[in-house]
This record gives sequence, structure tokens and C-alpha cells, in this order.
Amino acid sequence: MSAGVTIWRCANCGAGFFPERLLCPRCHGDTFKTDRVHGAVVEEVSVIRHMLGQENWQPHRIASVCTSDGQHITIGLRDESGPGATVELFEEGTAPFGGAKPS
Ligand SMILES: [Zn+2]
Repeated sequence: MSAGVTIWRCANCGAGFFPERLLCPRCHGDTFKTDRVHGAVVEEVSVIRHMLGQENWQPHRIASVCTSDGQHITIGLRDESGPGATVELFEEGTAPFGGAKPS
């Protein structure tokens, strides 16, 4: 597990994107460098209760969040954070997750 989630930032104008783009929609630049965002605000939460072909599936919570840098991404939620909550982002493998900051 690693802290933060990878985003791609346009080397020309600095706009950040997730997932990676071929061209920057803002300036049409084609050079990106990776960056990381660490915080996000939950906008919507969904629960995936069933998955086709999976037995013993445990319900998963997923959330649409807006990162501190402005990207809208979907993450796996690791706790009961709801809409409006600020979560800390992290990655397991390449999958983005989030949960409330430990207090
Ligand atoms: Zn750009």
C-alpha cells in the first residue's frame, strides 16, 4: 500500500488528470509527468452487493470523490465515510482506495 493516488500533470500548463490523457484538453500538450494527490472529498457512495461469477462476495463500498487537485475519481472505500467526508487516498497495487484520516 502506498500513500496518495497517482495523477498525470500536463508539463506545459500544469493541469492534473486521472486517468492519463493522450493530449491535455486545456492546452493540447502531449507531455505529462506523474504527481500524487493525497486528499479527497466524498461526493457519492455506492455499495456493490453482488459481482457476477463471484461466490462469497463481500459487499464493497465505492465512492466518487473530488480530489484536492480537482480530479473526479472512483475509489474503493475502506470505512463508513459518507458524502461530504474528507478521506485520505492510497493505492493497493494500482487500485485507488480511501478512508477517513486516522485521528
Ligand atoms: Zn496542458
